[in-house]
Amino acid sequence: MMKRIILGIDGNGSREIILLSSAKQGSVIVVKEDGPANGYKVEAHHSKVDDLGPVYLSEMAEDAAWDAASHVFGMIGSRSYKNAVDHGFWGDTDRPDRNDAEAIALMHSELSEMLESVRHDNPKSEKIPDFTNTEEEAADLLIRFFDWAQGRGLRVAEAVRAKMNYNKSRPHKHGKKF
Ligand SMILES: [Mg+2]
Repeated sequence: MMKRIILGIDGNGSREIILLSSAKQGSVIVVKEDGPANGYKVEAHHSKVDDLGPVYLSEMAEDAAWDAASHVFGMIGSRSYKNAVDHGFWGDTDRPDRNDAEAIALMHSELSEMLESVRHDNPKSEKIPDFTNTEEEAADLLIRFFDWAQGRGLRVAEAVRAKMNYNKSRPHKHGKKF
């Protein structure tokens, strides 16, 4: 079932910003120009709020957006975890388990592949030709991360929200040289 959450209005106050999310399809931000009387006209789909320029979110909408993020992360996590279990990454026993250091090292390896992709001027991906190699490696990194996070029950969206809030209070470059 499709969940519909009105996040707010855009900077001009003329368009509604709506988050549509479903377990099957994940989430998408939609901008609508017309009112519901004639049915909404979808102007544009966006994968993230930042694409839209200035957007004002109410506190409630902010909570709803983070709830949706948690939902989407959980969807990616459960699917990547199942595929990893099915392919033996969590062992060939009835009790899936793995070495945490090995899982983290594999995430490092995806970052190294991303670096090599950039060093080679970001060629087209051979496995998913509609995408660049950098995009493919970014996907690999996230798939490996969400698989592991799911297996270990990490509260990823909640921690991201808490840390982003904390980061707002930190000094320039977080007080470091870079
Ligand atoms: Mg890779």
